[in-house]
Amino acid sequence: MQSPYRVLLYYKYVAIADPELTCYEHRMICQKFGLLGRIYISHEGINGTCAGTLEQVKEYMRYMKFHPLFGGTEFKKDASDFLPFRKLFVRTRPELAASDLFDAVDPAKEGGKHLSPAAFHDMIEKDPDVVLFDARNIYESRIGTFEGAITPDIQNFRDLKEHVQDYAHLKDKKLLMFCTGGIRCEKASALFKKEGFEHVYQLSGGIVTYGKKIPKSKSKYKGKCFVFDDRISVPITDDVLAQCDHCGTSCDRYLNCTNAECNKLFLCCDACAQTHNHACSSTCAATPRSTWKRSDRPVTQA
Ligand SMILES: [Zn+2]
Ligand SMILES: [Zn+2]
Repeated sequence: MQSPYRVLLYYKYVAIADPELTCYEHRMICQKFGLLGRIYISHEGINGTCAGTLEQVKEYMRYMKFHPLFGGTEFKKDASDFLPFRKLFVRTRPELAASDLFDAVDPAKEGGKHLSPAAFHDMIEKDPDVVLFDARNIYESRIGTFEGAITPDIQNFRDLKEHVQDYAHLKDKKLLMFCTGGIRCEKASALFKKEGFEHVYQLSGGIVTYGKKIPKSKSKYKGKCFVFDDRISVPITDDVLAQCDHCGTSCDRYLNCTNAECNKLFLCCDACAQTHNHACSSTCAATPRSTWKRSDRPVTQA
């Protein structure tokens, strides 16, 4: 890894008695280390994605290792040529993965069985009775997913609970769930089990870990993995699954519409980026340039 920066993705379910205080302390420490990113703390644990230099990230992981609550957190690490965050947010939240399920499901007790990337891969290859289930949003699965996976048409993770019964006919199948880093599956798999699905499994460490453990040539995941920072996606395989929203040509590059009022995330090929002024529509392309800005991503964290 030659790139100067490292991006971390992690979560840990652990009871936190005073999230406000823990959040305050955590913000101080992250500022001290000079990290950028988004970290959420709730009564049920921590969920973060942050970045810094190799040294900064090492210091942070050392701090976490010896933290009474956060020790044992598994970090997914990626190298990056640039810092994919512009600010540091450390905030409290009612729950780690915004599912609006709150205490209705307890991932620690009710979640699906964790499978390592190798075990997950094996099960897809050898078991004819599996159904792959993408627990992410539609704009994520558009640019990459497991071959043959169900990709719910949702824009927010919290909307998944409204769709569970759409899949009632799969209740006796082996449901293999996956998401970016694993946190959404903790809640989603518990939810599906609660709704009567018998055999629910979840990909431990998520797509990003699968992409590191399984060679590209054998990967059952095709395309890119959407990430919630300025990189927008990381490649898993070279397959291009999606099409330009303007012209329909094969393309999996997302842009945020340059009209700041719109800021929509859309797929756009190089040619259309030029002809449409990096905007999602002709209306947005016609907006005066003075309103343009590089604004923060409109989407919520995985
Ligand atoms: Zn195009
Ligand atoms: Zn637009």
